Amino acid sequence: MGLGGFGGGIGVVRFFAEQGANVLVTDLRSAEGLKDSLAQVDPAWPVTLHLGGHTEADFQEADLIVVSPAVPKESPYLRVAKNAGVPLTTEMNLFWERNRGRVIGITGSNGKSTTTALIHAIFQAAESDSAANTACKHGRCWLGGNIGVSLLPVVQQIQPEDWVILELSSFQLEDLAALQPRPEIAVVTNFSPNHLDRHGTIEAYRQAKQNLLRWQTPDCVAVLNRRSEVANWPTTATRVLFDACDVSDRSLPLTKWLLLPGAHNLENAQAAVAVAQAAGISSEAIESGIRSFNGLPHRLEFVAEINGRRCYNDSKSTTPEATVLAVQAFDEPIVLLAGGYDKQIDLSAIADAAVRRCRAVALLGQTGPQLAALIETAARKANLAGPICRCFESLEPAVAWSLQVSESGDVVLLSPGCASYDWFQNYVERGEAFAKLTKR
Ligand code: ADP
Repeated sequence: MGLGGFGGGIGVVRFFAEQGANVLVTDLRSAEGLKDSLAQVDPAWPVTLHLGGHTEADFQEADLIVVSPAVPKESPYLRVAKNAGVPLTTEMNLFWERNRGRVIGITGSNGKSTTTALIHAIFQAAESDSAANTACKHGRCWLGGNIGVSLLPVVQQIQPEDWVILELSSFQLEDLAALQPRPEIAVVTNFSPNHLDRHGTIEAYRQAKQNLLRWQTPDCVAVLNRRSEVANWPTTATRVLFDACDVSDRSLPLTKWLLLPGAHNLENAQAAVAVAQAAGISSEAIESGIRSFNGLPHRLEFVAEINGRRCYNDSKSTTPEATVLAVQAFDEPIVLLAGGYDKQIDLSAIADAAVRRCRAVALLGQTGPQLAALIETAARKANLAGPICRCFESLEPAVAWSLQVSESGDVVLLSPGCASYDWFQNYVERGEAFAKLTKR
């Protein structure tokens, strides 16, 4: 139920189809909306598609229903299945029940994917070290979960000495509670209100995240952010606190090694190093892992240098907080491209940051005029001239103008602080368009 486009659904289809099960895929979206995932369905598999909506009978006649984490708990079809006595599960629960490897579970409100990818980069460096030197055997490392990779199809290949590095969303953790998960190492990056549309209350969201720590035992490790309430979350695991401001703490020159800009990324790296040290990974492997990491696409991703202007794609920024972080990540003058679909939230934090740090702002999408007004007000309040602003009707002239008004040594930054749905399918399409236009 819910094939989706993030890898979990297709992982489930592959897993069951390869074992000869008859798989029925049903999704509210049409074949057109799911074309990338459907392209990965092997025509030889015994798969039936019921797309563009659900049918009650499908939920009464199945042997097992695998529900996407995106499906709301109050879906009437889930009730139909329950009334018919059909068991429900998820991709992550199926994986967890079968996995024999040692789990490093990563959750938090922000920085999950970056921290997960950094941990993986370090463990990969350790893996190639131990391949050369069998005396320090670490096992293989596997990357998966909410980061967009399903490990379910390969679960049988995972050995007990292997490390499984799993990004876990609050939705996945909510469902995992049924299995009382006990990750060897748990990481919570931070906690702030998020996804309240789905969890209802902040307490329900907090409880879901706490499931990662709830069943850990003293032989496990909990890596927690010292500067967040998560430092005090209940666990019987051994607590390891990380702190971005305490760089000397682990006596490693992380700022020198880390290519990613921004204090928040240094914090993500601190978390990753704490995990690596808890797992007994050498400082050499930690260094080479961190040095090798270029960042994830669309998150302050360096895309081009044009006549001395360094261009960054931060299209994943769909909240004002993310744009403020992005702007604060640079010391150079910034030409910012911001704005987009109107989620009816307060954008004044973007305006304040722009007034203090930006040379110019190209305003995009529905929220453009509103942001222009906020910037004018913020500049007047701060008694500053403020950045030059201009509203645009499409991305192409906005990029051209941004490059024109920038000077050598500036940063040209796409960090919209808003969703992309007014001009693009999603943030990926928006970021790719920016990278292409910039290079052109
Ligand atoms: P997630 O997987 O939790 O969504 P990502 O690693 O994909 O997080 O980063 C998404 C955005 O969140 C980044 O572009 C940045 O704006 C912000 N971010 C990343 N790390 C942190 C952090 N440690 N604290 C606060 N915000 C962060």
